[in-house]
Amino acid sequence: MQVTRVETLRSKEPVILPEPWLPAWNQPNGTPVTQWYLTFYKVYTDEGIIGYGPHTGYVNPSRLIGMDPCHVEAFWDANMSGRRAGNSGQGAAGLEIALWDIIGKAAGLPLYKLLGAYTDRLMVYAATSRLLEPQETVEQVLSFMAQGYKAVKLRLHRPDPWADLDVVRMVREAAGDELVLLVDANQNNVSPGYRFWSRQTALRMARALDELGVYFMEEPLPRNDVEGLAEIAATVDMFIAGGEHTPTVYDWREYITRGAFDIVQPDAVMGGNYGITGLRRVAQLADYFGRLIVPHVLTGGHFVMDMAASLHAMATVENCPMVEFGIDPPVLTAETSQSILKQPFQLEPDGTVRVPDAPGLGIELQEDMLEVVG
Ligand SMILES: [Mg+2]
Repeated sequence: MQVTRVETLRSKEPVILPEPWLPAWNQPNGTPVTQWYLTFYKVYTDEGIIGYGPHTGYVNPSRLIGMDPCHVEAFWDANMSGRRAGNSGQGAAGLEIALWDIIGKAAGLPLYKLLGAYTDRLMVYAATSRLLEPQETVEQVLSFMAQGYKAVKLRLHRPDPWADLDVVRMVREAAGDELVLLVDANQNNVSPGYRFWSRQTALRMARALDELGVYFMEEPLPRNDVEGLAEIAATVDMFIAGGEHTPTVYDWREYITRGAFDIVQPDAVMGGNYGITGLRRVAQLADYFGRLIVPHVLTGGHFVMDMAASLHAMATVENCPMVEFGIDPPVLTAETSQSILKQPFQLEPDGTVRVPDAPGLGIELQEDMLEVVG
């Protein structure tokens, strides 16, 4: 089997958001998002099998032409691993995911079964994105629980961190102990105009959140403050999570060996250097050192592909307790994030999402909504 052609597809119309979206990590002075386009690679082969991946960047897709899609490990090593100079690249993850889609379709198996399944479903957590009024936050969390979510992540990014803490306390009181409560401090983002926490603030917040039974605290400090993160992780019982912007698989070694993160959070798509191969490698590396993996999953235009890739990869490992699922009505909903899918990902009554069971990635795009742009 050989790759014969790669097309870029884009949605004919943008997804228009019902209201401008200013995520917490862009507070206070970021630019609100009002719409996004959906873009994909469509990879053809001489055997008629077609694979799809998220269109992620600048790697020239013509380098796939003539390649056997089954040689995906060589493609990953040459373009994404980060082990040596020059073998990591912006955007190659979208092509790697399309190659895996082809391999699964050729084998007639969903990827997680082809790779060796550990489970067929994964718990998801409702990842909110905005800073709402405290009472609105409480109501939103209770509504997620009523829908069956077992875990919810709140954003901490108010000008006063102690105001963030008050909201977490209110949610814990209203939701009770059964809710798996997660928080993301987003201290590794650019966040124009934000006054970032000191190490002292981060440690004091961590102690207080630990008292509230928070399951994990994400990014209490910039990811390169390894000593600061390790001190917090060693001080509290709560898990410290992070690393979504870590450029390549080989950049995790220091974080893991020096104890910066209890839970590692690579992203299959963002940055372009993980894909399905990289996510599974980080999971194994973490497992050797007793760490968990809860992958970061993008919201917006790449959500469906990132979700599919993450579910397949994480269903093959033992140390993934849950996967991120961005939802924040009215901005992030099935209508805005998943309209391109014939069958959107759905929450099961037990708080999990099933791994798609059709061959390859197991998802089907509504191609009549897309046009070829390259
Ligand atoms: Mg995060």
